[in-house]
Amino acid sequence: MDLAEAVSENRINSILAEKGEEPSPGELSRILEKAACKKGLDLHEVAALLSISSQEGIERLFQASSKVKREIYGNRLVWFAPLYLSNYCTNSCAYCGFSALNRSLSRKKLSMQEVAEETRALIKMGHKRLLVECGEDEKEAPIDYVVEAIKTIYSTKEGKGEIRRVNVNIAATTKENYAKLKAAGIGTYQLFQETYHRPTYERVHFGFKRDFERQLTAHCRAFEAGIDDYGLGVLFGLYDYRFEVLALVSHAQWMERTYGVGPHTLSVPRIRPAQGVIFIPPSPVSDTDFLKIIAVLRLAVPYTGMILSTREAPGLREKAFEIGISQASAGSRTSPGAYSSGEAPAEQFEISDRRTPHEILESICAKGFLPSFCTACYRSKRTGEAFMRLAKTGEINKLCTPNALLTFKEFLEDYASPKLKEEGEQLIAKMTSEVEPAKREEFIRRLKRIEKGERDLFF
Ligand code: SAM
Ligand code: SF4
Repeated sequence: MDLAEAVSENRINSILAEKGEEPSPGELSRILEKAACKKGLDLHEVAALLSISSQEGIERLFQASSKVKREIYGNRLVWFAPLYLSNYCTNSCAYCGFSALNRSLSRKKLSMQEVAEETRALIKMGHKRLLVECGEDEKEAPIDYVVEAIKTIYSTKEGKGEIRRVNVNIAATTKENYAKLKAAGIGTYQLFQETYHRPTYERVHFGFKRDFERQLTAHCRAFEAGIDDYGLGVLFGLYDYRFEVLALVSHAQWMERTYGVGPHTLSVPRIRPAQGVIFIPPSPVSDTDFLKIIAVLRLAVPYTGMILSTREAPGLREKAFEIGISQASAGSRTSPGAYSSGEAPAEQFEISDRRTPHEILESICAKGFLPSFCTACYRSKRTGEAFMRLAKTGEINKLCTPNALLTFKEFLEDYASPKLKEEGEQLIAKMTSEVEPAKREEFIRRLKRIEKGERDLFF
């Protein structure tokens, strides 16, 4: 079966049609027991979970996904921020503030000096990972411009900090261009299908992006160009979420079957208002359904990182962290230049969680989460298949726990208020017992070295 067939309307609809009703308590138990083994679910089981609507069923689903999340990721949450390079775009996606048809948007493209200023502003917030984003415009933001920006980001230092992993979310492109991104040392290449429903896709996209196949096969080209950490996603609100989740899981499974490596991350953006654009989401997703989507994805592809952005409000985000999300953005701005200028005249869309990273960390620490700024795997070449092997055997936890603690320690030393520092130190002391005995002494030595001013120590 080729990829187009794997996500085709016929195939997805026929699976959905078989599972019209909520699964019986017995059937739900069987599926949740299977999910607890952390081997993933087939598409029929995913469809069954998506049809849950009773309160009792939803609670059982959340309990199961929270357990799987804890077993795989512990209490860790990895943090990053987007860096928008340019809002020039030749496409006119109906929902997006950067649409070429949005005449009220002031267009801006960062110079390399501005890229460095934005990077410094983000480093001062404590960030170590960025997600580079821009509109599609071959003249204003060609691949060489993006590559130069990535090099600028990696070479920028501020105080004791620097950016250690640059992920990228730019328009679908050629294998040659993906090879250039790989050579620039990117982490994950993310691209969202937006909607897997072809008629809807063709209704809301104009310009080069209108080509459904170009978007769908982009990760194949990226993988063939050597990018083995890739991320998939759906823009929720464009079409029925059950269809989208099923197609997304089918895409992930097809990639794993074909290339031997499933996606490194899944993203679940929901449509937000964008200035200058009038777009009413045709299939809005409620908060409860949104959380259900996250829980189902966690059980369907348990070892895949799941990303949540500041599009979502603080309270909902914290629930999502419990039931499945493993990575999140903090302090985000969606307008090029906004971090250093403090102004955001040209946003892609409005965000909901406007707290600073420091405020977010205070809140999540109080709820028992461990913030992580770790970038160790990518820099130790544990990517793609090598990463998945460690993840699936649970071996990765022996590295993630001490690495998360070491990067949090750096944050406490360099960016935290006295109150967060005190609470964070208590958390580190409490969690030191969770570092595997073989590494514990060395881990404690490294904590001391960080106190003395060394940085970037990892396992
Ligand atoms: N321009 C490239 C593209 O479209 O693939 C790069 C990524 S774009 C900067 C990042 C993502 O923002 C898009 O893939 C889309 O899913 C999302 N997005 C666009 N408009 C949005 C809106 N109004 N609300 C929420 N997300 C939006
Ligand atoms: Fe351009 Fe991307 Fe916005 Fe579409 S979603 S208008 S391609 S920036």
